[in-house]
Amino acid sequence: MSIPASSPAEQSARPDHPTATESVTDRLVEANQRYAAEFHDPGMGAAPVLRVAVVACMDARIDLHKALGLQLGDCHTIRNAGGVVTDDTIRSLTISQRALGTRSIVLIHHTNCGMQTITEDFRGELEAEVGQRPTWSVEAFTDVDQDVRQSMARVRTSPFLAHTDDVRGFVFDVHTGLLREITNK
Ligand SMILES: [Zn+2]
Repeated sequence: MSIPASSPAEQSARPDHPTATESVTDRLVEANQRYAAEFHDPGMGAAPVLRVAVVACMDARIDLHKALGLQLGDCHTIRNAGGVVTDDTIRSLTISQRALGTRSIVLIHHTNCGMQTITEDFRGELEAEVGQRPTWSVEAFTDVDQDVRQSMARVRTSPFLAHTDDVRGFVFDVHTGLLREITNK
């Protein structure tokens, strides 16, 4: 059930990797202080300027704003393991559309996703280890294109969403940075 990660040796080779005396969260808080020192309140409202919600995998290699040319305030970003459309994704999309005015939905999976390295057995393994079976589905997949289609279908058939005419799905290539659009079969 483990997902391959870089070894501690590889990580410590990074010059910006936290030292033993400083936690990664300390580093983030320090970075925030520098950010806030330069920050100017743009005075914008909470409704996304481009009226779009992006659902994407939480993968660390995807810089959504840079990859899509997005600016602060442009969109809602909803991220989880796989970029899958779960009940909680639908919850966020429903609030995004009905309370904050978004109209378009972009779904982004990617190549070399960790969700392709595990299976639904993950739940059983968890149960064996901790004595409790999770209520949630793992949402693992093998065919990324098909999982994007599944996600589009879940969005388009949701009774809670008011706008499902502009729903498009893509696979992001972590090596080239390019999106490949997935069409319905
Ligand atoms: Zn992923």
